[in-house]
Amino acid sequence: MMKFNISKRLKNLPPYLFIELDKAKRKAKKEGYDIIDLGVGDPDQPTPSYIVKALQKAVEDPTTHRYALDQGMPGLRQAIADWYLRRFRVRLNPETEVLPLIGSKEGIAHFPLAFLNEKDYALIPDPCYPPYKGGVILAGGIPYPLSLLKENKFLPELDGIPRSILKKAKLIFVNYPNNPTSAIAEKDFYRNLVEFATKNRIMVISDLAYSEIAYDGYRPGSFLEIAGAKDIGIEFHSLSKTYNMTGWRIGWACGNKDLIAGLAKIKSNIDSGIFSAIQLAGITALEGSQQHIKDICSLYQRRRDILVSGLRSLGWEVDLPKATFYLWVKIPKKIDSIRFAQLLLEKTNVVVTPGVGFGKSGEGYIRMALTVSEERITQAVERIRKVVKI
Ligand SMILES: *Cc1c(COP(=O)(O)O)cnc(C)c1O
Repeated sequence: MMKFNISKRLKNLPPYLFIELDKAKRKAKKEGYDIIDLGVGDPDQPTPSYIVKALQKAVEDPTTHRYALDQGMPGLRQAIADWYLRRFRVRLNPETEVLPLIGSKEGIAHFPLAFLNEKDYALIPDPCYPPYKGGVILAGGIPYPLSLLKENKFLPELDGIPRSILKKAKLIFVNYPNNPTSAIAEKDFYRNLVEFATKNRIMVISDLAYSEIAYDGYRPGSFLEIAGAKDIGIEFHSLSKTYNMTGWRIGWACGNKDLIAGLAKIKSNIDSGIFSAIQLAGITALEGSQQHIKDICSLYQRRRDILVSGLRSLGWEVDLPKATFYLWVKIPKKIDSIRFAQLLLEKTNVVVTPGVGFGKSGEGYIRMALTVSEERITQAVERIRKVVKI
């Protein structure tokens, strides 16, 4: 057998930390244990039926069977621009400032290829959604971690970045409401960010995947609402969490037209657009009744309340999140997050995500997702209560 070496850029990716944990999970499942999986950030509810019906209708039409337009259907770009205007009062030119994506993950991971040169720095939150770091490394850039700490409300300390780094930094990723910490950002944060980025000539990449998943009347804002934001940045958005459409693969980037054009050029060399039938269903999603968003938010909110009060009754330290479907939970003893997740799995068959998997500053935490039923959440807490000495 001939041996082939993987590329340096692939070797440079951070090591996968969960090999042992995944093995243990698979083994427990195979042996028939009743696993409660709070590990995955994937909505458990189905896509609303009006969207499924729109896809069924669209797929019957043979004109959807051919290559789609790389840059997305004009109708979808218009629907996205209309949605942004309704939701955030942000005006976007659908022709130049909106780019549909095959899920926002691919756009996030491809973006650095368009704007980073070898050894350019990119400012990355730590902990973070892994594709920020992966995309930067695959593009030959160097990720510079910005620790998200509880004492700073899990916001990055922009003032603390050394000048030598700022000189070499080309872009910064921000993500609020945040995965994994579930923290939110207020307008002041975005105002400072626009000032910081303008002063230092740094592109802002804002990931707004969770803008619609919020509780207690809170309505997350968009970075693009700030004056001057469109001069220096773009925002990624997705139908995945809002419409329970993670498997469909449809999202978008919007904002600064030069940044959009750069990403579009990379993509035109890599993919050939989103399946047209899915684009048509996406238009229906954005333009239809948004009632189900209220319904899923109340569903997650009830689960959140049960899990938070359950964990607090065990003496665990946990904040009540205002948005996202995650709890970011401080590990109640001095033990690393991978070991803690292993113990939880072994002793309770409850799966959680170790915080260190999202970056070094995630150590000391676990992430629990609210994507299982109230009944299962209650069971999970009771199982943990029985072994709480671990
Ligand atoms: C789920 C998620 C996304 C959305 O990913 P898609 O590729 O659009 O499904 C983007 N950012 C974060 C932080 C997420 O958690």
